[in-house]
Amino acid sequence: MAGEAILIVEDNERNRKLLRDVLAYGGYRTLEAERAEHGLEIARRERPALVLMDIQLPGMDGLTALRQLRADPATRPIPVVAVTASAMPQQREEILAAGFDAYLPKPISIQVLAETVRRLLGERRRPPETP
Ligand code: MN
Repeated sequence: MAGEAILIVEDNERNRKLLRDVLAYGGYRTLEAERAEHGLEIARRERPALVLMDIQLPGMDGLTALRQLRADPATRPIPVVAVTASAMPQQREEILAAGFDAYLPKPISIQVLAETVRRLLGERRRPPETP
């Protein structure tokens, strides 16, 4: 099975690489954008199975990008996971209230990432091993 596509929207290169490596190891195909504006273009064109969305981005932020994805019928059904260093409980509530399907705190836990992706994609196959 050719892996499902997951879009990574993240301006930090190291985090992008970590996400890419873990997802590739799990058999997923990755698409990447450093900015929300480009991420929205890719989402509309490629219809990924899932989006991992950094909140703090140059230009448009992740919350605004989520609203745009939800406003477009073509991208509305795509699950979107917030990826953010905002570990403050209040901000976490705000993120989930904004309509994200899940919240992945930074520093990123490889195991939590793999579990979150698997849960949202509703897969039953064996989870990827920790690299
Ligand atoms: Mn960022």
